[in-house]
Amino acid sequence: MPARLTVLSGPSGVGKSTVAARLRRESPWIWQSVSVTTRQPRPGEVDGREYYFVDDQEFDGMLARDELLESANFAGHRYGTPRAPVQQRLDEGAPALLEIDVQGARQVRQAVPGALLVFMAPPSFDELVRRLTSRDTEPTEVIDRRLAAARAELAADVEFDIRLVNTSVDHVCGQLVALMAAQQADAH
Ligand code: 5GP
Repeated sequence: MPARLTVLSGPSGVGKSTVAARLRRESPWIWQSVSVTTRQPRPGEVDGREYYFVDDQEFDGMLARDELLESANFAGHRYGTPRAPVQQRLDEGAPALLEIDVQGARQVRQAVPGALLVFMAPPSFDELVRRLTSRDTEPTEVIDRRLAAARAELAADVEFDIRLVNTSVDHVCGQLVALMAAQQADAH
């Protein structure tokens, strides 16, 4: 069986990036795509680790050259997955993980029919609101936009292959590691 592309998606604020960061630290054998974004780095983010931070012109160039596997506008900024590193990884027979929003997951579904789409859901909507409003690095209007998007994104879970409830980072990481390990085994 060829290596599979796994997509971790779900509403903003559900904890996807926390899970991705934990996996980078504790399960570095799981290769993760590094997205490009036009938003500014948050404190502690490193160019080339969390994201490649680019300007609109660079982003436009990548789009025009068809270098992005998928892309989305999210809360006023642009995000995309560079195609070549993901393709190279899959060509080598090794699994790859993307952490992207729901719009991007839908595009991957079309572009890569064999991809495994994993939806990360919050334990409750109230918990998601609490998480989004406690992120004190964002201005109120950004949080409001993210909440509106989250409501719509929560309803998209039926489009996914697997649904994981984020009861704890440990729990979700454990489930993802098991999923990725099974794919690694299948690919050999
Ligand atoms: P943040 O700005 O909080 O890092 O990310 C905002 C949203 O963009 C999150 O839902 C995150 O998963 C998503 N995102 C990050 N990288 C990409 C990408 O390459 N493509 C898409 N479609 N969404 C992304």
